[in-house]
Amino acid sequence: VKELGRNNYSIYSPLEKDSTYEQLIFENDLRKALERNEFTVYYQPKVNIQTGKISGIEALVRWIHPEKGIIPPGKFISIAEETGLIIQIGEFVLRTACRQVVEWQKNGMHPIIVSVNLSTKQFLQTNLVKMVEEILYETGLAPSQLELEITESMTVDFNQAITTLNHLKQLGIQISVDDFGTGYSSLNYLRMLPIDRLKIDRSFISDITTNAENAAIVSTILTMAYNLKLDVIAEGVEEENQVDFLQKINCDEVQGYYFGHPLPADELEQKFPEIYDK
Ligand code: C2E
Ligand code: CA
Ligand code: CA
Ligand code: CA
Repeated sequence: VKELGRNNYSIYSPLEKDSTYEQLIFENDLRKALERNEFTVYYQPKVNIQTGKISGIEALVRWIHPEKGIIPPGKFISIAEETGLIIQIGEFVLRTACRQVVEWQKNGMHPIIVSVNLSTKQFLQTNLVKMVEEILYETGLAPSQLELEITESMTVDFNQAITTLNHLKQLGIQISVDDFGTGYSSLNYLRMLPIDRLKIDRSFISDITTNAENAAIVSTILTMAYNLKLDVIAEGVEEENQVDFLQKINCDEVQGYYFGHPLPADELEQKFPEIYDK
């Protein structure tokens, strides 16, 4: 994996352009990938903007294909959703991430929050809460150290969403709304959901220092989130002047290439030895 280099993804043509035959092969490969342990989890740091310290990490799945190399989730998550394989992949990611954090803590890492992405299919599974509870029990991770990232689109069925989220909250875990601002929910709507954090979508952050409208939107989200007692994290932070801007408007946390790319566990440890500082 390392020989391929982090950004040296093999060229895998978009599925729209693939023939049906190639799609079938891809689906078949995806099915076998689980049995063959070809999935792995990368971790990207989240940084507290006031202290500059790592406050958490996000778990992001990667498929290490034996011939094609590292396949990013954008290339296979939607097919995994369609085929239902996302259920098992999601469970694998959750278990791996919880285990990893417990292991790091055994080695002296100070407690941080690990965020795991939920897919729509997982969110609608009736045994989701039980699955999460079992993994917490099995790995021994403190529930307060686990955060699940959902998206606004998952809350379309409001009654279902509120029931599921309440059950998840009862476990003691945290909930964050990912890609915030790209959906249609108002903050008033979100006020009724038991959530802890908003993650402002990268599209608002990328030109925050030059686009006055996006800067205004982000400032407004921060003001409202403050009043609703929600934390805010900005994703896709790539430049120092974005950090400066976000600090000025009192954003709580930041995540992005400026601080670090998603990395395999051992590389994250090497790159950020301060995770062990007490
Ligand atoms: P996401 O949850 O919004 O994750 C953030 C994505 O942005 C990640 O891409 C990350 O590598 C990338 N990113 C982080 N910092 C920067 C930055 O500064 N600039 C830019 N341009 N990009 C940045 P990745 O890992 O390829 O994941 C893509 C999407 O795939 C994720 O978006 C998430 O929706 C989905 N995904 C990843 N892992 C899982 C998983 O375990 N389960 C499910 N259901 N979905 C996953
Ligand atoms: Ca996410
Ligand atoms: Ca996101
Ligand atoms: Ca996003």
